[in-house]
Amino acid sequence: MSERIYNFSAGPAILPEPVVEATQKALWNFDGSGVGLMECSHRSAAFSAVIEQAEENCRKLASIPDDYSVLFLQGGASSQFYMAPMNLLKTDQTADYLNTGSWSKKAIKEAKLFGNVHVAASSEDENFSYIPSSAQIRYSQTPRYVHFTSNNTIAGTEWKTEPTPANHAPLICDASSDIFSRPIDVRKYGIIYAGAQKNLGPAGVTLVIIRNDLIEQGADNLPTMLQYRTHKKAGSCFNTPPAVGIYVVGEVLKWIRDFGGLAAIAEYNQEKAKLVYDALDQSKMFRPTVRPDSRSLMNVCFRATNEALETQFIKEAKAQGLDGLKGHRSVGGMRASIYNAFPQAGCARLVEFIKEFEAKN
Ligand SMILES: *Cc1c(COP(=O)(O)O)cnc(C)c1O
Repeated sequence: MSERIYNFSAGPAILPEPVVEATQKALWNFDGSGVGLMECSHRSAAFSAVIEQAEENCRKLASIPDDYSVLFLQGGASSQFYMAPMNLLKTDQTADYLNTGSWSKKAIKEAKLFGNVHVAASSEDENFSYIPSSAQIRYSQTPRYVHFTSNNTIAGTEWKTEPTPANHAPLICDASSDIFSRPIDVRKYGIIYAGAQKNLGPAGVTLVIIRNDLIEQGADNLPTMLQYRTHKKAGSCFNTPPAVGIYVVGEVLKWIRDFGGLAAIAEYNQEKAKLVYDALDQSKMFRPTVRPDSRSLMNVCFRATNEALETQFIKEAKAQGLDGLKGHRSVGGMRASIYNAFPQAGCARLVEFIKEFEAKN
């Protein structure tokens, strides 16, 4: 097999190498059973142990309280955009949304199918290049819940602390691109959801951490698969679950645990991002696109002085084994996604390349 390169892809994204290797083995012969992971029953004892351990590791890692459930669902974070309002929001109620980027807008669009949406703050006026301050947020009187996107994968911004809704409204968070990149106080949330393919595993499984009282709010006439209570009752095995995805998430959670847990990974992520932002701040050719107080530690977005240089930069970087640096098609420029599993050596290599490129051009 040829060597692996530095993969800055925004998602699906890099996974820890020991996890990829363990998965390779499990696909062939899972846990010495003689049956491959893709080929074994989701009702088998071996797979039941996988899902139980994944949940347990998730609970330990984030100190998830007992009155919360951990669900492994399908349909991506995009399905949570409608599943959350479908279960919680009635036609005459209002949900507050904090609009900080493309993913927030998609969540808002879906919520409007079920009830009223009040946009309590938006950074669209400045191209989503900042996170609104608490003074800029205007909640409605009695929001059913407050929804925000903790890390904006496309714009490259990240909430440093979660917003604090008025009137104890439950806080719902799309944490797809920064879940478990730092400590999280689950108690402050009603629902935390994340598509796995950025920081947790492969595409096809969505982690949902939900407070138990919210599970029971869905109307009885919702389709069975779209009620949270269905999945809670069946231990995420109401229908055939994405077994490989759940296995990989479990292995990634163990990897974070062995790394030292959320505080240790947060420190590592800070160091990695600082390397790249410092180099960009010092550069005359490149500049970060996000206001310094709102910069994401996961997705570093930057531009060069002109588009021709950007195209050349991305092309030459790829030739040197630095792949996936092209910014999202809606914003252009460059984006270095440096999730949990992305190694510090790769950030150092990128910085070196930025300096070489600037010196040559
Ligand atoms: C990638 C992403 C999504 C979409 O996730 P899917 O699993 O593809 O539906 C939603 N929100 C954020 C913040 C993302 O980064």
